[in-house]
Amino acid sequence: MRYLILSDIHGNLTALDAALKAAEGRWQKAVCLGDLVDYGPDPNEVIGRVQSLKAFTIRGNHDKAVVGLADPDEFNPIARISVLWTREQLTPPNRAYLEKLPSGPKQIGGFSIVHGSLFDEDEYIFTPELALDGLLEALTPVTFFGHTHIQGGFTLRDGQVEVLHLPPAGGNPFSTLTIEPGAPFLLNPGSIGQPRDGEPRAAFAIADLENRSVEFWRVPYNIGAVQERMARAALPEPLILRLAFGR
Ligand code: ZN
Repeated sequence: MRYLILSDIHGNLTALDAALKAAEGRWQKAVCLGDLVDYGPDPNEVIGRVQSLKAFTIRGNHDKAVVGLADPDEFNPIARISVLWTREQLTPPNRAYLEKLPSGPKQIGGFSIVHGSLFDEDEYIFTPELALDGLLEALTPVTFFGHTHIQGGFTLRDGQVEVLHLPPAGGNPFSTLTIEPGAPFLLNPGSIGQPRDGEPRAAFAIADLENRSVEFWRVPYNIGAVQERMARAALPEPLILRLAFGR
């Protein structure tokens, strides 16, 4: 089974649709690691699109915050403005949908999915030190996580945590990681709607674990069109600008 792995879409329908177009015909089931909404201008449209994919979806910290399951005061002032704007936009059915999203970890297709980490849906796994416990206590050989908006991940080799960073090269839209048997892998598909790894293109992954392969994809999209909608919605300027830098 080939799984489309989406994360951190953040209300960016243009990026999501560009990713879906690139991935068309290449996957059979979709999963989403949370943060469908917030920051971006299209929260209702993104929820509708994810529902149409019948994606197996867990919640992220922003999904919680916009429906009041987390305190927006824990966010920085710019993020708080966006949480409150998104909260106002949500239709009642979409609000109810977000409220009912389960938290990770969940298992599907022989792998695990979490938003932050195995132990805390709000924890960021930025470094090898932070990845170690999740690798040692993994529930399945492969765990997909999101939250950091940084594509790549970690594995254990000879007792050491190894950082995996596989940017597609040579004009290819994706690079392929081979999953070696016996080693645990913590993998981040990257963010669809607000990448923060210095590369502004939308990021996602396609996993085919029976064939021991995970593809890390990058797809360009019309960033200017999204920035225009954000400006019309009077969303904070730093959030608008960062899309172009992928930071
Ligand atoms: Zn996020």
